[in-house]
Amino acid sequence: MSINSELNLLNQKIVYDFTKFTTTDYIRHLSCVIWFKGCNFRCQYCYNDDIVFCKEGNYSINEILVFLESRIGMLDAVVLSGGEATLYDLTAICKKIKEFGFKIKLDTNGTNLKLIKKLITNKLIDYMAIDFKSPKYKYKNIAGVNKYDDFIKTIKYLINTDFDFELRSTINSSLLDEDDINSMINTISNLDYKNTYYLQNFIQTETNIGNISKHRDINKEKINNKKLSIQWRN
Ligand code: SF4
Repeated sequence: MSINSELNLLNQKIVYDFTKFTTTDYIRHLSCVIWFKGCNFRCQYCYNDDIVFCKEGNYSINEILVFLESRIGMLDAVVLSGGEATLYDLTAICKKIKEFGFKIKLDTNGTNLKLIKKLITNKLIDYMAIDFKSPKYKYKNIAGVNKYDDFIKTIKYLINTDFDFELRSTINSSLLDEDDINSMINTISNLDYKNTYYLQNFIQTETNIGNISKHRDINKEKINNKKLSIQWRN
């Protein structure tokens, strides 16, 4: 990316919104969250569809940087989320954020390995949370795209490089049942994933992309927690 296009990206309104303060998005950190507009997935359970389909964002990165500079000493981290933050070359953005001394967490669907490698190699991110959408046999149906193999390549890379990251899955029982969840646990434990695997409950809104409803609670006793540390969120 040329210097001109990097500067151009900082001026474009690619941010849908930002959360000025949170203690929950990056564990043990006081963070701000930047919500990038747009996504390359169409998950049935997505409740961020305003962000996914947004044509023009509300803020430029330069506007967010002004805010971040005013929070030096008050916050200690920035979370890059969306939508899908890796639709954008985050290199210049992360460099600017790092100049302020903040740690950076990236939330991603894990499909842009080229960019992820670049950010890790240049020490521009500190932690990642990656969505594990479903087993391969359901991926296209649930995520709306056929990118399971890209996701797996990214996981393998992160494990091989010993980068600090977490995997998490959104659970709607009409899409993923206990057998599917156990299949996903098998997949990542076979890849030698060692961190906690977070399972988070689906949130129903009026505008979920696939307009699905929650049919029943997952029977947690049927979930194999022998291979990995499993933690349920919300
Ligand atoms: S839930 Fe899926 S469609 Fe929605 S923002 Fe995340 S990756 Fe994109």
